[in-house]
Amino acid sequence: MQTAKRGACKGCGPEYQVNDEYIQRVLSHPMFSSEHCVPEEVYQQRLAICQACPKLQDGISCSVCGCIIPVAAKLKARGCPLPGGGLWGTADAE
Ligand code: SF4
Repeated sequence: MQTAKRGACKGCGPEYQVNDEYIQRVLSHPMFSSEHCVPEEVYQQRLAICQACPKLQDGISCSVCGCIIPVAAKLKARGCPLPGGGLWGTADAE
């Protein structure tokens, strides 16, 4: 039986670990250079907030919503899933 790392996703093994190469490949899609995305300054603010959050796993995944943060934080329509409006959200995307 495979033992999941404490706090790691229960559904995926280490062979599915997201890495920088995967993230860069996703972000190279034209969708991530479009009107659907936040300005670079907002993106960096969102990443900084997540980096300081105890819900971030392995510096990449949000343990609340399961999102890959370097990808999700690019999108205007996304927001932090924490109750009460989250730590960042769609309001900062305009
Ligand atoms: S999206 Fe919100 S809950 Fe998830 S890691 Fe970022 S700040 Fe934390």
